[in-house]
Amino acid sequence: MEKQRKLEFDAIVIGGGISGILTSLALSKEGKNILIIEKSSIMGGNCRTYEIDGYHVDTGPHAVTNLLNGPLRELIKKYFTVIPRFSPINTYYVRDNQKLQEFPLTLLQLAYFDILPKKERLIMSGAMIDAVANSSLNKDVLKKSVYDYIKKYNLSEKTNRLIDAVSYFLSGKSMKETPTWRMLGGSGYIDENNNGKEGHLKKFIKFAKHNYSSQGYPLGGIQSITDCALNSMPKKKMVFKLNEKAIKFIIKDNAIKGVKTDKNIYHSDVVVYSGFMKDLPKLADNLDKKYKTELLKLKQTKSLTLWFGLKEKLPEISYIGSEMYFDTDTPYWAVPVSNFDPYLAPENKQLIGFTTVIENENLEERIDKLKNSIFKAIPNIKDHIEFEHTQITIPEKAAITVGIKFPFPRSPINGLYLVGTDTDMRSMGITRASYSVIEALRLMKEDGFFLAS
Ligand SMILES: Cc1cc2nc3c(=O)[nH]c(=O)nc-3n(C[C@H](O)[C@H](O)[C@H](O)COP(=O)(O)OP(=O)(O)OC[C@H]3O[C@@H](n4cnc5c(N)ncnc54)[C@H](O)[C@@H]3O)c2cc1C
Repeated sequence: MEKQRKLEFDAIVIGGGISGILTSLALSKEGKNILIIEKSSIMGGNCRTYEIDGYHVDTGPHAVTNLLNGPLRELIKKYFTVIPRFSPINTYYVRDNQKLQEFPLTLLQLAYFDILPKKERLIMSGAMIDAVANSSLNKDVLKKSVYDYIKKYNLSEKTNRLIDAVSYFLSGKSMKETPTWRMLGGSGYIDENNNGKEGHLKKFIKFAKHNYSSQGYPLGGIQSITDCALNSMPKKKMVFKLNEKAIKFIIKDNAIKGVKTDKNIYHSDVVVYSGFMKDLPKLADNLDKKYKTELLKLKQTKSLTLWFGLKEKLPEISYIGSEMYFDTDTPYWAVPVSNFDPYLAPENKQLIGFTTVIENENLEERIDKLKNSIFKAIPNIKDHIEFEHTQITIPEKAAITVGIKFPFPRSPINGLYLVGTDTDMRSMGITRASYSVIEALRLMKEDGFFLAS
């Protein structure tokens, strides 16, 4: 065991996933000396790509949203010296009866979306207009679950299955647990930055024209975002500690004074924590009871991803985009990543990742069910698989569910800030993580710790 010694840093960042990396990059570029502590042997957390048998798999299929003017772009512009490149995602498809149709984001697309019966499409158009109008008039209605919001329409099983699959995709939970506002925000109908307060006209324009162009897939795999951020850091300002787990905060008079790890003790007046917020009560003694209760209510979702490496490129998955399938009890979302970047698969071969949600089920059974869904949706794939890789991951540190409140990036302990996908409810994944980092930086500035303007 390493000898305990005293170290001084301007800030200690716990967790070397993309939230911790982006925070460390920003603070180091602002001239601060940073210690970053990561419990695993590798930086990147859920934002990594690794090679097996010539295939480069991401930690789950990714599409990064809101890239044109969103929070990740803001951080890239301000702090990155090595810039990741993105290929546009273009289109989200729905696969049905082995055919692809664009996901209906506008009312016109919904009118032509003949995967659902005509009557249901009309009902859904009305329900969408009603919900968006409600987002300005009566916000409480939107706190209800999607299920509670739509049950009065008596939609068919197929329509309900589609809505359920979209709910899982946007919140991590079924439509019975997903708040209606999340469905509208995640589909881009209300501006999450504005809390749904933008003008009616602006909202309704989104029914006619939807903007996909702001979504992208990072060339080289999602690792390239992590690598570009790490390579942009001023090395003299950074100390990395891998294989070291933060186990307790040192707190005095309700102010953070440092961190105890399983190997060492480090001192600083500022700590940024990017691990699970659910674990915060284990690290911080004497948290306010109400605050702790809210943290312990946070729910998580696990995802099961199957990567298939294919002996040759299949015409069925030749598109640039992603697809959703919802015709069984195991819906999936898939991204054929080598279509964006051929480097991710060996020459003339193809790599595609399929992901679904796993609750408290037997893993083997869930894998079989996911395979059955895939083979039903794309029968030809079965005879072309030469590589298979399974991942179980937690995509977002907390699911957005009815009645849940995420902790704010400013904790009740002075000098302790919180970042990651369970500290901000806007958007999802890397975009949500980036929102939380920007918010934490703003609060540090407001609190006078950092960043002279
Ligand atoms: C299947 C799947 C699909 C996804 N799809 C998308 C997508 O399409 N678009 C998108 O933007 N995002 C997507 N994501 C989500 C995205 O990858 C994550 O939101 C993001 O990488 C989370 O970053 P983070 O830093 O907040 O958390 P993490 O990546 O979980 O990093 C946290 C880090 O903290 C470390 N840590 C925790 N506790 C401690 C401790 N006590 N001491 C030391 N270290 C600690 C952990 O080891 C980890 O490395 C997807 C993820 C998955 C799994």
